[in-house]
Amino acid sequence: MKVCIVSACLLGIPCRYDGKAVADLSEKFKRMKYLPVPVCPEQLSGLPTPRECCEIAGGDGFDVIANRAKVITRTGSDVTDYFIRGAKLTYRICKMVGADAFFAKNFSPSCGVERIYDGSFTGNKKKGIGVTSAYLKEKGISVCCVDVLAEK
Ligand code: SF4
Repeated sequence: MKVCIVSACLLGIPCRYDGKAVADLSEKFKRMKYLPVPVCPEQLSGLPTPRECCEIAGGDGFDVIANRAKVITRTGSDVTDYFIRGAKLTYRICKMVGADAFFAKNFSPSCGVERIYDGSFTGNKKKGIGVTSAYLKEKGISVCCVDVLAEK
């Protein structure tokens, strides 16, 4: 059985900023012969649940890693260091469990794959990747939006 890591909120774990889960796709992973390991980079970082909504301002996850953009809360606090810590700890878990793929929740400032919120807290989205997804990609981990599972 292949091991992968999955955004924990997609495996029924109520770790989202609002204290809720998004879905429980555990059965889907089982059918695909994957052993899914749940990871929430934002919880790993030390941020509480529930927590303030966060967005990337001035770029995407690659820009945050390169120190060209920041992650901010709705009320303007800079939480960039938390997001970088969460990304690094998630990579450590990948290595510990032997996972070479991350199935991730789109739009999140941590886990987003193809699209994220644009930093204006108005609900607008833009093309871009979250901090953890960018970090894992740079480390050679395959990062897939969970939408690819829709037809499996
Ligand atoms: S950081 Fe990722 S795993 Fe955690 S709640 Fe957000 S999308 Fe889900």
